Amino acid sequence: MIRAIRLLVLLGLGVWLALYLRQLGGIVEVQVGETFIGVPVWLGLLALVVGFAVVHLLLVGWRALRTWPARIRARRDLRHRRDGDAAVTRALVALAAGTPDAARLEIRRARGLLGDTPHTLLLTAEAERMAGRDDAANEAFRTLAARPDGRFLGLRGLLRDAMQREDWPAAQRLAREAEAAQPGAAWVKEERAALALRTRDWREALALSAPEGLTGHRRAALALAAARQDGEPAMASALEKQALSADPGFAPAALAVARRQAADGSPRRARTTLQAAWTAAPHPDLAEAYLDGEGDPLARVKAAEALTHENRTHPESRLVLGRTALAANLTGRARAELEALVASGEADRRAYLAMVDMDAVELGDSAAGRVAEAKWLRAAAAAPPEPRWQCLHCGTAHARWEPVCDACGTAGRVEWTGGAPRTGAVATA
Ligand SMILES: [Zn+2]
Repeated sequence: MIRAIRLLVLLGLGVWLALYLRQLGGIVEVQVGETFIGVPVWLGLLALVVGFAVVHLLLVGWRALRTWPARIRARRDLRHRRDGDAAVTRALVALAAGTPDAARLEIRRARGLLGDTPHTLLLTAEAERMAGRDDAANEAFRTLAARPDGRFLGLRGLLRDAMQREDWPAAQRLAREAEAAQPGAAWVKEERAALALRTRDWREALALSAPEGLTGHRRAALALAAARQDGEPAMASALEKQALSADPGFAPAALAVARRQAADGSPRRARTTLQAAWTAAPHPDLAEAYLDGEGDPLARVKAAEALTHENRTHPESRLVLGRTALAANLTGRARAELEALVASGEADRRAYLAMVDMDAVELGDSAAGRVAEAKWLRAAAAAPPEPRWQCLHCGTAHARWEPVCDACGTAGRVEWTGGAPRTGAVATA
């Protein structure tokens, strides 16, 4: 509205100026050689304005003519982009719906319209993989990896494929390249950690595991596995200590540290290590190692007392005290420990078998002895089995702790399991 009024005012002024100039009169004279042109001022001005408008229109027309092909190209590109984006969307829908053939068709269309961009290549690879054409998928991932903007995506796809094929050397190479392409990417770190576990590279797995991402026990297991793998004694020793500090109750780590301390000529430190581990989590192997040097049965009783003085009432403590006392013929002592253990309801099969041994010593081959033996054997049969190393993945029992279950090949799942329930009394008769 305001523009229209302004234009009207301008036009009015123009007309007024033209009329005024006409009224004013006057002539514009142009003389070229002998030729002499004279026009009124208003006509001269009009010719000037018209001439300017014509030149302006000519210039605009020329420019439009010159940029015509580029504009046609831009319009075509825009159309392709729109159609390509629509094809990409349809491909995504087809992928989500699990129809790889439709997805491949749409992706081919999108690639024709948009060219090889990181997302068309990625979608190509995903659609080919879903269709079970791994070679075509890897080809797309390789093309993607060759581009600076799609390198990480390409390597990621190739790495996933290498891990699926269990081609570990290729997977390790790709993981390193992916790490270089995207330093610090959490996903690469996780994959490298999984890869290290699969290739039994415990040191790498330990280095890649974030301290907060692993429980103490898992860390301890990795460190001990790495120590066993390391041929260099100083490094192996450091890893064993690391394992023990990550989980002070991890018996295999305590045994390894103690064994090394004893070999280095410090049996007292070795005993202290075993004792500390016993306090954290009593384990029969610790007692066996602790009592190993003691030949005399009475000295073994003393050693067992020293080992267990921090947690005398723990079932394992009572068991080792009862057994050593029995071996030293201290039957009163042995009976007190073993009966307390049986009465606690935390006894497993070993306690009842120790009772059988004790009654055999005390009652001998008598009628009462045979009755007692039958009673304890029945109780042993009903009691929970002794704790043991067991793969939590496949359930296979192992004689000792191993980093990998040799039955199912799972890493880090062999754990100390079983033992008596903490509550509820077990029938003793
Ligand atoms: Zn297993």
